[in-house]
Amino acid sequence: MPRFQIKPYTVLITATGKSPITLSLRPVPLLVGLGVLAGLPIAWIALLLYQNVQLAQRNQNLSETASEVLTELNAIGNEIEVLKHRAGLPDHSGDSTRLPDRDGDKIPPRGGIAQAAPAEAMFDEARRQLPSLETMLSRAVKPALEQTLEAEAEQAAAFPSGKPLAGEPSISSEFGLRPNPFGLRGYEMHEGVDFAGPVGKPILATAEGVVVRADYNGGYGNHVKIDHGYSYETLYAHLSDLEVKIGDRVQRGDVVGYLGSTGRSSGPHLHYSIYRNGQAVNPRYYLKLAETNQETK
Ligand SMILES: [Zn+2]
Repeated sequence: MPRFQIKPYTVLITATGKSPITLSLRPVPLLVGLGVLAGLPIAWIALLLYQNVQLAQRNQNLSETASEVLTELNAIGNEIEVLKHRAGLPDHSGDSTRLPDRDGDKIPPRGGIAQAAPAEAMFDEARRQLPSLETMLSRAVKPALEQTLEAEAEQAAAFPSGKPLAGEPSISSEFGLRPNPFGLRGYEMHEGVDFAGPVGKPILATAEGVVVRADYNGGYGNHVKIDHGYSYETLYAHLSDLEVKIGDRVQRGDVVGYLGSTGRSSGPHLHYSIYRNGQAVNPRYYLKLAETNQETK
């Protein structure tokens, strides 16, 4: 392979009147040497450029992060205001519970931040806003949440749930259209569920509320109606005896009367209705009865 034969090169360095210095170099080390000599400045410039780009990128990232932090802080501040409003707290409970206004000198309004303000100034602004945010959290959000939880607890207590009889009572008639239970022709709308049971079994209120009916009429016999607020009412009918009177305040689980067969009844049972905004709804959804006890008789 004569074409690829590697021949050494000779470099002559001469000065006038002096004998020349000769350097005999093989081509590969020579090329590498020249390459390194030429490459060093290029590498240096490339490194500087790279560092510059890196720095610019980092600055850009920092600016974006700072801008995001400020936007987030502002959003949290707004959310707190909304929460306060929803909890019925005053919008402005002193300046100390509000984020400082943005009309200050350093920080331009939202939207133009990324281009306009340097990252450092924006981080300073974020640092400045954090204590106010903490104050808002402790002074406004905590009471607002407590108020909301209290209201929700109140509402939960007034929400008819569970069974109006202890144990695992069986449902003898479902909510909805049913054949006439007295053997007559046609169908009737049954606005509740019937629970079969022995006469005298205690009947329990399914939610906190005020007794608005506790008397006798031809259809429901001895019956109790409770107003729970939040547009809910419950009815307990065909009772043998009543345990409450109109105006009584009852808690969930209180005895309101005893199972019977008074009024338009074909046998001892409790008729239980739930009304929402005056409309009968299917108590099934509120009973939380186990599937095994849902067979109808
Ligand atoms: Zn019924």
